[in-house]
Amino acid sequence: MSASVNSAAVRRSLRETFGITRLHEGQQQVIERVLAGDDTLAIMPTGAGKSLCYQLPALHLEGTTVVVSPLISLMKDQADKLAKAGVTALQLNSALSRREQDEAMQRIAGSDAAIVFATPERLTDTDFIDALKKRRIALLVVDEAHCISQWGHDFRPAFLEIAQALKRLGEPPLLALTATAIAEVVQDIREQLGRPRMHVVNTGIYRPNLRFEVAQATREDQKMELLLDALRKASGCGIVYTATVKACEEVHERLRAAGESVTCYHGRLPAAERRANQDRFMNGDTRVMVATNAFGMGIDKSDVRFVIHYQMPGNLESYYQEAGRAGRDGGPADCALLFFRKDKQVQQFFLAKRYPSADDLQAVHAVLTAAAQPLALEAIAQTLNGVTRNRILVTLKLLRDAGIASANRVHAWSLKPGVPVDIERFRELASAYEDKGERDQEALERMVFYAQTGFCRWRVLLEYFDEPMPQGDRCGHCDNCLRPPPERVVEDDAQIAVPPISASPFKTGDEVRVARYGSGRVQQVAGGEVTVLFPDGVARAFVAEYLRTA
Ligand SMILES: [Zn+2]
Repeated sequence: MSASVNSAAVRRSLRETFGITRLHEGQQQVIERVLAGDDTLAIMPTGAGKSLCYQLPALHLEGTTVVVSPLISLMKDQADKLAKAGVTALQLNSALSRREQDEAMQRIAGSDAAIVFATPERLTDTDFIDALKKRRIALLVVDEAHCISQWGHDFRPAFLEIAQALKRLGEPPLLALTATAIAEVVQDIREQLGRPRMHVVNTGIYRPNLRFEVAQATREDQKMELLLDALRKASGCGIVYTATVKACEEVHERLRAAGESVTCYHGRLPAAERRANQDRFMNGDTRVMVATNAFGMGIDKSDVRFVIHYQMPGNLESYYQEAGRAGRDGGPADCALLFFRKDKQVQQFFLAKRYPSADDLQAVHAVLTAAAQPLALEAIAQTLNGVTRNRILVTLKLLRDAGIASANRVHAWSLKPGVPVDIERFRELASAYEDKGERDQEALERMVFYAQTGFCRWRVLLEYFDEPMPQGDRCGHCDNCLRPPPERVVEDDAQIAVPPISASPFKTGDEVRVARYGSGRVQQVAGGEVTVLFPDGVARAFVAEYLRTA
């Protein structure tokens, strides 16, 4: 059975169950593919109605739709909304009591739930997979799919388990959803999920209601002045992002002392306090939320009028995701970055700790060698005090994929007997991450470039996401577009010289390198813009700062 998005039955459930008469073009395209049983990756901006892309098909596909989401709070919201609309939706996550979980498992195996929500961690639970296997799985949905990619800005090791679950479930059709994904992330999502031919529907990220600007600070304490000033001028509610927990607490304290209506959110707050602070911001009791990037994914607040970054994030993808939480209602919203050069060091510190090294592999291997029985992640983390759980998980996965270690039914890890290893082998395995580290470094440079450029901010963002400007090469409303043109210098002989935004060090015929596309040859140079022809036959334009001599 394969319904069409335009069939009377689908139109009727759209109207009667969801109270909607018209789909956006992107939703239409995605739903059409999902109903046809095609594997699809949908890249849609926040607020574009991603969840409808699986909820509507779920009612018309034969079998159960399984939605994998890292967001327990979102899961609950969605399940409640669906229940109100008369759709049977079950959820399985750690927020439920043991009894509720058992009950949900029984219902999954025995009833006709249209939609089952689960965390990625749950997919490693053999009982859960066995329960699902009793049903026909019509579709597996991966929400926030960029989390599967170590190229992405929000990598979660648990997402690496999804591929195994797909196999155990007999490879059902797949729908992956994300708000943003650069080319490498798209490729990585396809590879990690084992669907190399997954179709991509990208509805574009341009949102003309977002006004981008950057304020330059020359001293650390100047940022606080800039922030207080921005908050005085800003109307409505908004988010202030910091890169570290320490800065989050400091900024929160300063704003509180300055009489601002403010709360905070970061990963080191107790869960109950985090939840309470989030609720106060969400229901409008507090105007400003100061937060680390722990706050945001799946936060459904449409009237955020400003997002101010007190410290820059590590790349433009993170920046756009976070800034893009402003103005989801389509109304005008401000996205400001307070740029202080030294903040780059904070990100460099994170980068250095991001990927496992040969030493990590050796350390984890040594812990497993010394253990008398299989060890759970927690036990390994306790022994290796100071190494993050994420990093240990990625290390364990490397060891598993190399056939050196394995996990049992209850996720306890042990070494496979008789596999010889030495430091050389560990170096070899870790080298897979060297390239990633280099690209991360480059992504950070582009973040800095964004902050310092004289080009239209939207243009730089769109270029990063490989998307064209919708019209012309300026948005017309970012700080750079609104800035008056550089003053003309009148020289003695009355010649008029306009200082270029940036002069290009390249000339036609030069061989240059761009991390994402490899080497190419310069075709044309115009001001700071360089057009490069690549071996794939496509000419792409870049601002000169993105290029390196090959
Ligand atoms: Zn602009």
